Amino acid sequence: MKLSKMHLKTLREVPNEAEIPSHILLLRTGMIRKLVSGVYGFMPLGWRSVRKIEDIIRQEMDAAGGQEIHMSAVQPAELWEESGRWFAYGPELWRLKDRNGREFCLGPTHEEIFTDIVRNDVASHRQLPLNLYQIQTKYRDEARPRFGLMRSREFIMKDAYSFDKDEAGLDQSYQEMYDAYDKIFTRCGLTFRPVEADSGAIGGSNSHEFTALSEVGESEIAYCESCSMAATTERAECVDAPAQNDVEMLALEDVHTPGTKTIEEVAGFLGLDESQTMKALLFVTYDEEGKENGYVAAFVRGDRELNMTKLVNALDIPEHSIEFADEEKMAEACGCVGGFTGPVGLHDCKIVVDSELVGLKNLVAGANKENYHTKNVNYGRDYEGDIVVDLKVLQEGDACPVCGAPVKHARGIEVGQVFKLGTKYSDSMGAYYKDENMKDQLIVMGCYGIGVTRTLAAVVEQHHDENGIIWPMSVAPYHVIITVMKPDDEVQAEVADKIYTDLMKAGAEVMLDDRKERPGVKFKDADLLGIPIRITVGRGAADGIVEYKMRRDADKIEISVEDAITKAVTTINEEK
Ligand code: ATP
Ligand code: MG
Repeated sequence: MKLSKMHLKTLREVPNEAEIPSHILLLRTGMIRKLVSGVYGFMPLGWRSVRKIEDIIRQEMDAAGGQEIHMSAVQPAELWEESGRWFAYGPELWRLKDRNGREFCLGPTHEEIFTDIVRNDVASHRQLPLNLYQIQTKYRDEARPRFGLMRSREFIMKDAYSFDKDEAGLDQSYQEMYDAYDKIFTRCGLTFRPVEADSGAIGGSNSHEFTALSEVGESEIAYCESCSMAATTERAECVDAPAQNDVEMLALEDVHTPGTKTIEEVAGFLGLDESQTMKALLFVTYDEEGKENGYVAAFVRGDRELNMTKLVNALDIPEHSIEFADEEKMAEACGCVGGFTGPVGLHDCKIVVDSELVGLKNLVAGANKENYHTKNVNYGRDYEGDIVVDLKVLQEGDACPVCGAPVKHARGIEVGQVFKLGTKYSDSMGAYYKDENMKDQLIVMGCYGIGVTRTLAAVVEQHHDENGIIWPMSVAPYHVIITVMKPDDEVQAEVADKIYTDLMKAGAEVMLDDRKERPGVKFKDADLLGIPIRITVGRGAADGIVEYKMRRDADKIEISVEDAITKAVTTINEEK
């Protein structure tokens, strides 16, 4: 493609709302175009890279036995009511009505649709296993769309669904998808880590996220260098502090602790370590109609952080149906006092207690009395939990749940996730097959997503410098950019044209910068756009010499036109 003819508009100014490199660079290169918050379109270069990622995904999905189909983004509410997710998915589900008042949503994911297809089409065990996938536009009315393609409201996803006869079949399908994901993200040039993950609103029992490592990522992962443990901090199990079985329980004692509302303040005031206290977090929950239906008090050791994912899993409610309680209202209903809430004497609320509190002795807790705390609070004697479960976040330096070594934290971008769904959807929606004995059996499912457009952003996030993007060959919009210093110079124009034509004949994707711009402008644009190979045609053209440079390297070399072509073709074939 000749740049003089290309629809390309790069920006010199960094748009205000863009905070992270990938968002800034995708806008500056003119690859994406914002329509409204969280909704982006793709311009020629951007769309080429999207399609490259899609192609890689298609090749690996097909190689793993997947069959591509394409479903509508519009989905009828009835299917979501069958699975129970019309409520469970919450306000992220983009709902709409047709002219007759019938309810629909724009699909954020397609478990219901694929389950519906398979329950209609699959009758016999002979038709299983089956793996269907699509690459399709998804809609999620995200509370905080941000970072451009990272968290948008409309985005492209590859979603695959596996259907097996039994758990062993699912294990195999899951492993095949896991391995395919490994290949896909490697081919996209990402540095990533598969980590154990929570199953969230999708449901199911076992899941891994593929996380592209990046400081700007919204996923936090905990990993261990002594063993192979790696999990999102939402999911990571924690090791409880050892039970203090031989410590004697002391008598309860209320102490005056004026103005000490935080754990830090109360521990400081009493001269204790924060780990000798416990803290309360108060919530209200909502029913399907959005009406308040109860209070929850969650307790963790004072120095721990409450893990919201573990809390909603323990309560078995969707994340959107719980929020922090209005302390005054809750005080009236349950007898607590904001800032001084403890478990003793609390009533009319669900008490959820972190598992390690059971074995710890003589803790300080709020006294449910303004400006008072209670010393020597003990589980069993003084209070009990309706639910006792691991409720805490695995912090950096905490003991690894597998081997005990101190864990590390890292941030990353979740580019894909694989789930073992088991029979969650086949059960709720009635997807059966007949086994060898003609008996009905539930189909066992898995689902596997990749954020195509988020992957594009993740690639830019990992591959850029202060001058622009540095595309890996595999997903670059073009392989080579030929920069002509003086397009009016006949020799330069001719040499550039020869390189352009020869490279394309050899299968390369080439941009020819034949614009009547100053060389400085062209070099800046070439760096910004990040095309992997730059061939500059200038004064040396008369002697058949051009300049050859990789975007990722600082140095450039002068070589003959023929060598430049051969070198480029070899590099492209090795790296694409
Ligand atoms: P997140 O935790 O980031 O909200 P999710 O767990 O809800 O994501 P999945 O339901 O697993 O996402 O969707 C599959 C993939 O789709 C994700 O791994 C991610 O790459 C991509 N994805 C999800 N939400 C968005 C979004 N709002 N914008 C862009 N890509 C997204
Ligand atoms: Mg996910």
